[in-house]
Amino acid sequence: MTVLKGKGVSGGIALGRLLIYEKREKNIKRYRVENAENEIKRFEDAKKEAIFQLQHLYDKALQEVGETHAMIFDIHQMMLNDLDYCDSIINIIRSQNVNAEYAVAATADNFAMMFSAMDDSYMKERAADVRDISERVLNILSDASENSISGSEPVIVAAEDLTPSQTVQMDKDKVLGFVTMKGSSNSHTAILARTMNIPAVVNAGEFLKPEYDGQFCIIDGFSGNVYIDPDEATIKHFIEKQKEDRFKRELLSELKGKKNITLDGQEINIYANIGNLSDLGSVLQNDAGGVGLFRSEFLYLEKLDFPTEEEQFNVYKTAAETMAGKKLIIRTLDIGADKQAKYFNLPNEENPAMGYRAIRICLQEKEIFKTQLRALYRASAYGQIAIMFPMITSLKEIKEIKKVVKEVKSELLADGIPFDESVELGIMIETPAAVIISDILAKEVDFFSIGTNDLTQYALAVDRQNPKLDWFYDPHHKAIIRMIKMAADNAHQNGIWIGICGELASDLELTETFLSIGIDELSVSPGLILELRKKVREIDVSKIRDDIIRNIEQ
Ligand code: PEP
Ligand code: MG
Repeated sequence: MTVLKGKGVSGGIALGRLLIYEKREKNIKRYRVENAENEIKRFEDAKKEAIFQLQHLYDKALQEVGETHAMIFDIHQMMLNDLDYCDSIINIIRSQNVNAEYAVAATADNFAMMFSAMDDSYMKERAADVRDISERVLNILSDASENSISGSEPVIVAAEDLTPSQTVQMDKDKVLGFVTMKGSSNSHTAILARTMNIPAVVNAGEFLKPEYDGQFCIIDGFSGNVYIDPDEATIKHFIEKQKEDRFKRELLSELKGKKNITLDGQEINIYANIGNLSDLGSVLQNDAGGVGLFRSEFLYLEKLDFPTEEEQFNVYKTAAETMAGKKLIIRTLDIGADKQAKYFNLPNEENPAMGYRAIRICLQEKEIFKTQLRALYRASAYGQIAIMFPMITSLKEIKEIKKVVKEVKSELLADGIPFDESVELGIMIETPAAVIISDILAKEVDFFSIGTNDLTQYALAVDRQNPKLDWFYDPHHKAIIRMIKMAADNAHQNGIWIGICGELASDLELTETFLSIGIDELSVSPGLILELRKKVREIDVSKIRDDIIRNIEQ
């Protein structure tokens, strides 16, 4: 038995076989396929997608850097359509009965070698281009298949690290747990695991040994320990622990249907955070009062291309109908930083968390923003949708957002498409700037929701992704608590409600503080709702409020 010591970021015990998840492009394997025509179709689809991406890059480059520099993307499109190149790939697949990835990689090697051997310097340079276009096709092929967990047996997924887009694309029914060698507790991958209620351990420290693949293992999401090839006694111990955990959850289920009310009669809304439609089951099962944060960017991360207005509308409508009149707060696209979708073609940045992300993209690429807003407003006719905007730092952003919203509403009106005129519009309070001017911002919107994950990162200047900084990433820091109080006071003085949707909302050590401050809503992972309800029902705010407020202010 080998024990790896990591950090538990999503509670629970999982027992099962370990599957080492590898990024395919690093390691292209050749394997035989039953149906060569299917592989050819996979290649053709990936090629189509690559050409689409290149056209998008061409248009963008044409506007930003002019035709001379944009030409390369045109040349790449032509190369992808080159008959010799495509015939070579198709021929390898058909004659050897092998996978598309192998055929693309082999053709890339052959053509690059051929170009490099030519005397003409222009042709020599094409070697890099052929590698480039093949890499693009391989990335698309691997995106479409790397996350599929083959086999019917659910597994524990192990990886050096997992990006949010890799995590969100996995088939949840086949994942018993996650272990990553890197990663931090505040990353979106950890948040996703909590939302999905799947035990997870990050920062397990060691390089993944290939021989772990397929071995039986146990992960303890509470302590952060991972047991590879555990002995009988350890297995027995953890089966017992798993039973206890389930029993605890069953006890909590008695709280379903009960109010989130303190002993002295103060009520608070407890809502759920979700990433996609499949989380709605556990929202209802855990009796959430609503959805406080639907991270809509996960819809984009699941796709190989921009989701259309129709696709988005169907998702939002289904969510609104499923929530049956309960509030559903959908946050507009918060892509960028660690949440990357290749087709956005976002530039590499020195400081991605402070870079081109979230509302900054939406306000500069208005078509993307308008498509989402149209879908959201159309879906508002089917339930109680509220819209929330991420990463706000200034009043001018809100004014600009409102202009776009106005345009969208009048277009829908002109088209005779029904929508709810009174959709609540709110903002995330997740930058120190937004806190400091929250008195001004509160006059412009219907609600605030505090994103403590980013607020902590920006206020303390601590990268939430960096596991080395875990000790410094302290959301209990007095600066953060004071900021929460300041935003809450400004919200209430201006007659709007305020919630918390960052991970701190479920921190039971702070429930008393949040109630004393008068936070109106806490939005947490679905699996934590009943525990939070239990905690709220045990508190008498009247007995502690004065001391807590004095302590925050002193
Ligand atoms: C936050 O920053 O607290 C938040 C809820 O948003 P995200 O974690 O998606 O950045
Ligand atoms: Mg955030």
